[in-house]
Amino acid sequence: MNKLILAAAIAVAATNLALSQTAKKPKAKEIEINGVRGYQDTPMEPDGLWHVHDPARPQPPVVTTSNFSQLAVAPSDAIVLFDGKDLSQWRDKATGGAAQWSVVDGVAVSAKGDIVTEKNFGDLQLHLEFREPTPPPDSGQSRGNSGVYLMGRYEIQVLDCFDNKTYPDGTTGGIYGQHPPLANACRPPGEWETYDIIFTTPHFDADGKLTTPAYVTVILNGVVVQNHQAIRGDTNHRTVGKYTSHDPTGPIALQYHHNSVSFRNLWVRSVPLVNEP
Ligand code: MG
Repeated sequence: MNKLILAAAIAVAATNLALSQTAKKPKAKEIEINGVRGYQDTPMEPDGLWHVHDPARPQPPVVTTSNFSQLAVAPSDAIVLFDGKDLSQWRDKATGGAAQWSVVDGVAVSAKGDIVTEKNFGDLQLHLEFREPTPPPDSGQSRGNSGVYLMGRYEIQVLDCFDNKTYPDGTTGGIYGQHPPLANACRPPGEWETYDIIFTTPHFDADGKLTTPAYVTVILNGVVVQNHQAIRGDTNHRTVGKYTSHDPTGPIALQYHHNSVSFRNLWVRSVPLVNEP
């Protein structure tokens, strides 16, 4: 009998513990404002103006663009990351094995998992081209989602935002969850789009404290959508950016987010920062 009472008491305690843990971590609540889905149960950005992924934040103005820098020939000192032949410069992020993306007709198509470069980079100039699937799958963040992770940590969003509203800090050209792009310069799905990105790494002191944030300038289809913008730290879903001390170089990663997004003509140059006036 005592054993039964003890077992019942343990069961009640376990249930209470589970309930208290559930109470501590409420389920993410997606809301819709003016036809835009996002969140307002997320932390405020450090500027105190908007929640992370806030659907009420003003939409970036739409700017129409052309074929700026498409098929740009890699400069002689660039490291070519993908020239249409194979993904030998890349590996699967999760396993470290061969990249699981397909290469068809000179185009790499995202599948199965994120991929990362074999090589690490510091301050860099990156060129890449992407093409969103057509007909567009789904809407919002589920329409052609991918991303370019600088140092494997700092995501510049890739999404089909042509006639597809989403929370501004998740728009193409945005530093995910932090800074929306200055403009929505997306081309229609099925057409090639270009990213030209200039990035400087963050710096940390001997104790791992941030001394200089990372900065990024992003040109999407010929339109500057981030102008030497300071990054607030690692970019993640529903969280405020936070820096964690890391090596001075890191890989470039491309995201697989359950959509087939095409890539071509990827190359990178090292552009060491000269701090003298
Ligand atoms: Mg993404």
